[in-house]
Amino acid sequence: MASLPRKKSNRANVLSALKKARGKDVNWKDGKVFSLVFYPGEEIYSLLQEAYQMFFSENGLNPSAFPSLRQFENDVVSMVGSLLHAPRTAAGSMTSGGTESILLAVYTAREWAREHRPGVRQPEMIIPESAHPAFDKAAHYFGLKVHHIPVAADFRADVKAMEKAINNNTVLLVGSAPQYPQGVVDPLRELGQIALKHKILLHTDACVGGMMLPFVKKLGYRVPDFDFKVPGVTSISVDIHKYGYAAKGASVVLYRNRSLRRKQFFVHSGWTGGIYGSPGVLGTRAGGSIAAAWAVMQYLGEEGYLKINREVMQTVEWLRKKIDSLPGICILGNPEGTVMSIGPDHSQGEGVDIYQLGDELAVRGWHLDKQQNPASLHLTVNYAHTTSKEAFLADLKIALKRTQKWNWHKLSANVQIALARGLAGILPAEAFARLSRAQGKLGKSVPRRSAAMYGMMGSLPREGDLDELVLDFLDKLYTPRK
Ligand SMILES: *Cc1c(COP(=O)(O)O)cnc(C)c1O
Repeated sequence: MASLPRKKSNRANVLSALKKARGKDVNWKDGKVFSLVFYPGEEIYSLLQEAYQMFFSENGLNPSAFPSLRQFENDVVSMVGSLLHAPRTAAGSMTSGGTESILLAVYTAREWAREHRPGVRQPEMIIPESAHPAFDKAAHYFGLKVHHIPVAADFRADVKAMEKAINNNTVLLVGSAPQYPQGVVDPLRELGQIALKHKILLHTDACVGGMMLPFVKKLGYRVPDFDFKVPGVTSISVDIHKYGYAAKGASVVLYRNRSLRRKQFFVHSGWTGGIYGSPGVLGTRAGGSIAAAWAVMQYLGEEGYLKINREVMQTVEWLRKKIDSLPGICILGNPEGTVMSIGPDHSQGEGVDIYQLGDELAVRGWHLDKQQNPASLHLTVNYAHTTSKEAFLADLKIALKRTQKWNWHKLSANVQIALARGLAGILPAEAFARLSRAQGKLGKSVPRRSAAMYGMMGSLPREGDLDELVLDFLDKLYTPRK
């Protein structure tokens, strides 16, 4: 267990320890990471840093102490609103990220139902299974029941199945623009119709797409309507720290009218410390992320975002064409924007083992997240990839060849079991015991590659066991070093 150093250190030592610590972190500036970081290039990046630093200590908790931050926040919310056809009645807030925006929208729906749907006993929401886990988190925190509806063959929300799931307790429907796993936009016009018909709320999760799809559409690409133009959409979440290319900690939640937003606010007027009111989940709010979001939007303007999106879409189209022409793999579905995934191409037999392919790419320094149901590799294409696409394709071809040679499917199921041994090094003892029970006897060899682990995870008997395993893993992860 680490304790506070007894003695003061010096500045140079601390800074060099920081530098050393990040040595094993993924390198995102060279466009080899396809998630987590959105890099707009050095010029914009340095502007963000300067803006962030200027408001580094300021606190968005008290807008009367910092009218600057209040103005930035109101500006950012209106700028996003104008991109998303918000009516004059609309209102919103800046939040710390997509998760907070979604938590607030779900909480607001619950509070709305309390007033407007007194018949609701236990509030429920209906979401496509592709919707972001933040909705499940919100339901878990705020006591809503969630119905996960399987998506259609094109990975989009199945509107008919969602309507079928509506009952007297339903307060909220969700669609995404786009959904994260395959990057396709849900049919929000149709969802809007059923929301209106059943007099319930509809949230569009445009966390990843809200600062990208409007520009992609202006460039002439086909993008179905998803925003306030769609009758029935009552709230929208949009992350500025994704395709807005802002610093981390910047998102917006918007409502069709102020009375909905009012449900989101919290007030405790009897506190001995004074009257306390706060718009969102957080108390103290980092001034830097609010200022940096404002700065990058002012700097780029429509012209700047169009230019970035033009280049990124050209990269996306190029990658799609190349990837679809490679044997055994393809782009899943027909994504509208700059988010997509690589899956096995079953039109040519079994297709490639996608997790193995991911590991072969990882060996070559490429970081792509692995997805399940179906197995796929995720690509959030952004400005950083406009210069790395050729190198990626070259390594993808090599990785593909190696994956085919490895021929995972010829190895016996023992390999999966054997990997459990490798896991023993990471997981605490009781989790490993559980795993062993699930897997029966363990083999001898220990494959190092995580493809096997995913295969094994996929073969675990029940979902509950997997949840426990992940909880154990998180617990272990956030336990201090000995
Ligand atoms: C990223 C994302 C979220 C969650 O946002 P965070 O900023 O990671 O909290 C929600 N929905 C979608 C579609 C996303 O891509």
